[in-house]
Amino acid sequence: MEQPRSNSFKFFSLGGSNEVGRSSHMLQYKNKTVMLDAGVHPAYQGYASLPFYDEFDLSKVDILLISHFHVDHAASLPYVMQKTNFQGRVFMTHPTKAIYRWLLRDFVRVTSIGNSATGKDENLYTDEDLAESFDRIETIDYHSTVDVGGIKFTAYHAGHVLGAAMFQIEIAGLRVLFTGDYSRELDRHLNSAEVPPFPSDVLIVESTFGTATHEPRINRERKLTQLIHSTVTKGGRVLLPVFALGRAQELMLILDEYWSQHAEELGSGQVPIYYASNLARKCMSVFQTYVNMMNDNIRRKFRDSQTNPFVFKNISYLKNIDEFQDFGPSVMLASPGMLQNGLSREILERWCPEDKNLVLITGYSVEGTMAKFLMLEPDTIPSINNPEITVPRRCQIEEISFAAHVDFQENLEFIEKISAPNIVLVHGESNPMGRLKSALLSNFASLKGTDQEVHVYNPRNCVEVNLEFKGIKVAKAVGNIVDEIQRGETAEVKREPAKVESLPETAQEEQSNQGEREHPNGAEEEIVVSGILVSDEKNFDLNLVSLTDLREHHNKLSTTVLRERQTVHVDCKKELIYWHLCQMFGDIEVLEDPSNVTNMLKEEDHDFSNETEDKLVLQIMSDIKLIAVDNSATLEWTQGLISDAVADSVIAILMSVDSAPASVKMTSRSCDSHNHQNVEELIQQDPVWKIKQISKLFQEQFGDSFTLLMNKDEDYKKNDEDISGIITIGKNMARVNFSQLKIEECNSNPLKGRVEQILNMGIDLVAPLC
Ligand SMILES: [Zn+2]
Ligand SMILES: [Zn+2]
Repeated sequence: MEQPRSNSFKFFSLGGSNEVGRSSHMLQYKNKTVMLDAGVHPAYQGYASLPFYDEFDLSKVDILLISHFHVDHAASLPYVMQKTNFQGRVFMTHPTKAIYRWLLRDFVRVTSIGNSATGKDENLYTDEDLAESFDRIETIDYHSTVDVGGIKFTAYHAGHVLGAAMFQIEIAGLRVLFTGDYSRELDRHLNSAEVPPFPSDVLIVESTFGTATHEPRINRERKLTQLIHSTVTKGGRVLLPVFALGRAQELMLILDEYWSQHAEELGSGQVPIYYASNLARKCMSVFQTYVNMMNDNIRRKFRDSQTNPFVFKNISYLKNIDEFQDFGPSVMLASPGMLQNGLSREILERWCPEDKNLVLITGYSVEGTMAKFLMLEPDTIPSINNPEITVPRRCQIEEISFAAHVDFQENLEFIEKISAPNIVLVHGESNPMGRLKSALLSNFASLKGTDQEVHVYNPRNCVEVNLEFKGIKVAKAVGNIVDEIQRGETAEVKREPAKVESLPETAQEEQSNQGEREHPNGAEEEIVVSGILVSDEKNFDLNLVSLTDLREHHNKLSTTVLRERQTVHVDCKKELIYWHLCQMFGDIEVLEDPSNVTNMLKEEDHDFSNETEDKLVLQIMSDIKLIAVDNSATLEWTQGLISDAVADSVIAILMSVDSAPASVKMTSRSCDSHNHQNVEELIQQDPVWKIKQISKLFQEQFGDSFTLLMNKDEDYKKNDEDISGIITIGKNMARVNFSQLKIEECNSNPLKGRVEQILNMGIDLVAPLC
């Protein structure tokens, strides 16, 4: 499968699409891959029961989320973790993990019995695989959010069975909600599924019951208890094939209560209820442990009576079929729920020839299973242990659904609450799924062609669904900008609507709307703040920071090219500015000079005092442009380390040009400019003071790049060594002998020129004015 484009979201099912069973779906967005569930198909055996794992490179999966412990969602997990190139992290809720362990051990045992019967070795994994992979499974609490490399996901109650979770997954601002199997009905022990507080862009929702409607719960309970009651009072036996964990506990809560309330009519213990599941018995402690994750009703029972509500008065556990004293009417709950093999199948074959007996199907029956076949009321059924023998079927078959899946109304209400613009249907046979798709499309028909149009997809396994998203950005305000937003919230200023744009670069200056909030009148107001939007490509985090905070919060970030401009007031003639700059920077390009001031300097006896004021435009060191008009000088340059430093020194010159001794000398013309002939003489007079003055000039010009090699004044007086200074700019170096006022060594001609000029300027500075 090719890599999805950056804003393209891909949904790809390996199983559980247009079918119920072997659920496994892939989500891909921004090069992240999330896998949802790893089930097996209950109607198939061995490798045929697996999702189409060969159709996807499992090594690409970042995380795998397991919605609940049912085999159609979790039973191929050890296979994925131990037998494929999958390297991702696996998450499930605590109760799911606790029950999963017992359940899959049972699954391994049952499937190996199945294999020994068929003579084929098609075990998907062993007990050892199960144990090894078990420790690597991580747990997540309801309502907590985990972040794995930028994939954030939160677990919500799904209602379906103990531990069942819906996952809301967020990648780079895109939110996907996966319901798993879910129920909106408040039953005897579980909370109904929650609506997450944050909206979703994509909803992946189960469609098990399509457009069917459940009878009200109270009617179903009445029907169930009455059917069982009338069967046993007529001397019949009732078989309830159930999935070992989950709905079985709900049915037992109903039956136990009914048996207590109707003890006399039922012959005070004359009609036993059995639950033939060691697994369920072992898992009772799990149910007790996680009572706090169930609804108020069961928690109250547990708190008030201080007994485990899952320890039933009227129900006994049956360890094995040999112990079973099958002499009269009884009620038997036995797994597996779809009568594929095991105990429930054995009892079915024993009881189905008698017409007073009843098989009551309460769970969802997958196509291709014995439970589904029985609904057709066949005359005979094949024997599991001896396929050549058929068993006559005369018993009653009834179906009352207690499968904790939403019906059409519940599903529609939930889908409307989520109001995701894209809906992907999973976990449904083709027909009910197709009917649900049509019903949803007609329900949302009025939105067709609008911005809120709802798209519904019912892809088959291994058929991609590609959705394009504009890349919604939500930025987190960081640092000083938070204060700015808060000030904006309190200030009563008129605000412009802000716009959010997608960002092609890692960081750029951008306006962004922040701090959206509800106004008392219900209208949302937006505050406009300016800052730099910084995105972390790995975690998709977006930060909005003010420029001054950038280094503090994102020290690795390099800044972009900026054009800078600074204007200073200058109170002197332009030829002086030019002269000083030439002293400092050597050759300067004259761009505009209408008054020809730059040439006046060359005329020996030019009178500086009566020039007409005009414009002078100079180019200094290729990038810095100086525009001097009247009394203001404007510098323009492209931001950069060197240009900034040069610009700074130009500004320093501009600020001091009118007071510099050289200027005074030049403009006053009271003295002939000396020709540095008296350098030796100069050195003789108070040398330390002079050196200090000159070195100050160097310090101003070169900053930290300049080092004066002199410790104390006394040293110089006493000794005979020369005082020198070193200028280091990158690879270029110059050594200046301040005692001799000459350059001792320099490896760069431009630097040498500059140093020479400063040295001359220094000599000018310290020369006594005559
Ligand atoms: Zn389920
Ligand atoms: Zn399921």
